[in-house]
Amino acid sequence: MRYVILRDDDTNALTPVDCLERLYRPFLDRNLPVNLAVIPDVSTNALTPDGKPEGFLFAKNGMSEPGSAGVPPASRNARDEVLAIWPSAGITSPSPIGWERAGVRVGVCEKRPEGIASTVPIGDNPELANYLRENSNYHVVQHGCHHDCFEFDRKSPFGIAGRLERGTQLLTAAGFPRPVTFVAPHDKLSRASYHEVAKRFQVISSGWFELERLPMAWWPQYLAKKAVHTPHWKVNGTLLLSHPGCLLSAHRDYSTMLNEIIRSVNSRKVTVLVTHWWEYFANGQPNESFIRVLHQTADYLASEKDLKVISFTELANSGIELN
Ligand SMILES: [Zn+2]
Repeated sequence: MRYVILRDDDTNALTPVDCLERLYRPFLDRNLPVNLAVIPDVSTNALTPDGKPEGFLFAKNGMSEPGSAGVPPASRNARDEVLAIWPSAGITSPSPIGWERAGVRVGVCEKRPEGIASTVPIGDNPELANYLRENSNYHVVQHGCHHDCFEFDRKSPFGIAGRLERGTQLLTAAGFPRPVTFVAPHDKLSRASYHEVAKRFQVISSGWFELERLPMAWWPQYLAKKAVHTPHWKVNGTLLLSHPGCLLSAHRDYSTMLNEIIRSVNSRKVTVLVTHWWEYFANGQPNESFIRVLHQTADYLASEKDLKVISFTELANSGIELN
């Protein structure tokens, strides 16, 4: 048996329910778990590492005050309203995974002026929170706290712990089970962050792992994993899962995407498939070609007899072999 974990990043209080419903109904109806990496308290000024507004904020129109999400129906002319508030919002950014690999200079986003940030807790959008709770095949995992740029590439254990705990508290306050899995914004964790995350979560899902960022006590296990070229590994009970890049990305060739997914799933025991809901709605409009590939992926995952789609929690609790 091989296993697939579908992970969709960046759901937040400003995410229109219609977007998730459009993308994931075929998965939910087939009983295929969808792991949503949810931003507990999204920063409405979040920037990408190259200084552009984050794509997941495209629906922030209608929100006036922090704490009043005001998510509009998807049918409203979202693009015009967003552009009126925020003229550069129409510019799409590359997928946030692999920024540094793509040669983007780290640190540009840190030039944002302090004191202007506002945040919106996930529970401030009851329509979205109810929708996620009512559909039991959605599994919420914690995606940072505010999703500031490289939010967990910081040194202070105190600051890191504060963000982790605030994020978890807001997710549980919104009625979700305490998350067992953590996904860092932009896949970036400092050594102190690995320490603090491992104290609180059973699973860390990331694009890749870098020796110099890991706690030194973890190095022997990491080097052993590197020596045998396995994607996933384990330290002191914490599962560390890597994924084969964002195969479901608006920036890839739709005609070969499904074949790439099949090839990847066939090449390992456990595959984490990562995607971003907002990439399917560039400028507020559904990208039909891309959505078709996602739904073909649901057909494929549901029809393969020796394939099982599972949640991160199921992996953590089942004792399934990782590699
Ligand atoms: Zn993200």
